[in-house]
Amino acid sequence: MAEPEQVDVVVVGLGVGGEEVAGRLAEAGLTVVGIERDLVGGECPYWGCVPSKMMIRAANALAEAHRVNELAGSAQVQPDWAPVAKRIRAEATDTWDDKVAVDRFTGKGGRFVRGSGRLDGPNRVRVGDQVFQARYGVVLGTGTRPSVPPIDGLADTPYWTNHQAIEVEELPASLLVLGGGAIGLELAQVFARFGVRVTVIEAADRVLAVEEPEASALAADALRADGVEIHTGVKAGRVGHDGGAFTVYADGAEFTGEKLLVVTGRKAHLEELGLDTVGVDAGQRYLPVNDRMHVTDGIWAVGDLTGEGAFTHIAMYQAGIVVADVLDHMRRTKGGPDASGTASVVGGAAGVVSSVGGAMSAGGSSVAPGSVPVADYRALPRVTFTDPEVGAVGLTEQQARERGVNVQVGYADLTSSARGWIHKTGNAGFIKLVADADQGVLIGATSAGPAGGEVLSALVVAVHAAVPISQLRHMIYAYPTFHRAIEDALRALK
Ligand SMILES: Cc1cc2nc3c(=O)[nH]c(=O)nc-3n(C[C@H](O)[C@H](O)[C@H](O)COP(=O)(O)OP(=O)(O)OC[C@H]3O[C@@H](n4cnc5c(N)ncnc54)[C@H](O)[C@@H]3O)c2cc1C
Repeated sequence: MAEPEQVDVVVVGLGVGGEEVAGRLAEAGLTVVGIERDLVGGECPYWGCVPSKMMIRAANALAEAHRVNELAGSAQVQPDWAPVAKRIRAEATDTWDDKVAVDRFTGKGGRFVRGSGRLDGPNRVRVGDQVFQARYGVVLGTGTRPSVPPIDGLADTPYWTNHQAIEVEELPASLLVLGGGAIGLELAQVFARFGVRVTVIEAADRVLAVEEPEASALAADALRADGVEIHTGVKAGRVGHDGGAFTVYADGAEFTGEKLLVVTGRKAHLEELGLDTVGVDAGQRYLPVNDRMHVTDGIWAVGDLTGEGAFTHIAMYQAGIVVADVLDHMRRTKGGPDASGTASVVGGAAGVVSSVGGAMSAGGSSVAPGSVPVADYRALPRVTFTDPEVGAVGLTEQQARERGVNVQVGYADLTSSARGWIHKTGNAGFIKLVADADQGVLIGATSAGPAGGEVLSALVVAVHAAVPISQLRHMIYAYPTFHRAIEDALRALK
């Protein structure tokens, strides 16, 4: 058996969260081994956020061109997927090559190991024949993979996950999309705008089921206007593939398509991580962490794996906390080098707990000297990048009511706002506010519309900082902006 090699920190999985942690700790002067079995950078740059948003940008350009006919004369567009596929290959993914990302990490002083890492007892990680003993701890950032439901016949078919959908060079004539969540809707709308006949099949009684019902209705209407067939409350029972087409059998109905995209959620594969060797239950859906991302002594986790929200901004936010906490842990318990001034952490909406140690600067917000941020997800923002965009933060109305909050709701339709009326075609959207009437603050909000994800930022600040509604009502909102509808929704709170 190989002799364990002593290092300071081992990071398993260099996706968004793991790469951030490993790079920052290496920059702070620690000896860091980063282990990645696929591509450094993870899902977001190669098969997730970045290429999907490039696709959306292209699809939205087509939609805007169609709107010329109603606003500015006439325009004819001929959709062509080739430039989109080329841009994803050339600009986003380097044809799914991570050399730049590996160099970025090693350039910060990190040591890169390609392979599958697995815990092998406290503070110890095995990758192939190599074993690393971590002086200060191990960080797990192994993310999730598509969760494919156990539908009869599905496993034997060449179905697509997001990987094939992002890598596609030639579009199919028709596409079935199993799953009407954010990823399913974003991709469905893109492909429909490029002329693919798209059918979305969703088991819940509405698409975007985790968001406000008004957001579900808005998104469904928008996709239908793009020609997407949407079937909700339909549970796929069996899938067949005859070589040329897929058939989904569901509740007595049959749906056919040339390709089938399965986007029914994601799953963390805890069973692969050797958690039993450190006394942690690997039979859970996600890996629970405390507010400093501790799993157990000497082990931190970051990103999708923690189940706190499958978003790049969550992974980055948690990474900042892990970096600060590892450095703090190092100083307090092991007497390691003082990394103050060399490390920077992502602060975001993190609260602060007091601890011993030097000053740290938080990306965006500063963390007081001697403090380490702790996680606070009250103001977790999320955006579904359909057109119109659906941005949301905090609790939905139903979630707030289930928690026994004395709820007030305010709603404003974007189409009847000054900017919505001016915007005309493509102006669908709304602001919905969820307030805690006893505290006099917003605890949730949805901002849907042409720039819903951008307008959301004001609402994120309001929820995060618990800005009194009385103050929000007496701010000045620029005319005529989409965000001015927030003022209308505040006025409508009851
Ligand atoms: C189509 C799509 C669109 C998305 N769009 C957005 C968006 O617009 N905005 C947003 O915020 N989020 C978006 N996301 C979500 C975002 O991609 C994830 O939240 C983010 O990638 C999570 O980062 P992570 O570090 O937790 O995991 P990942 O990025 O999944 O990285 C985990 C890494 O760990 C590696 N790994 C796993 N096990 C091991 C092992 N044992 N040893 C070594 N390496 C291992 C994997 O190969 C992987 O590279 C999207 C996701 C998808 C699929």
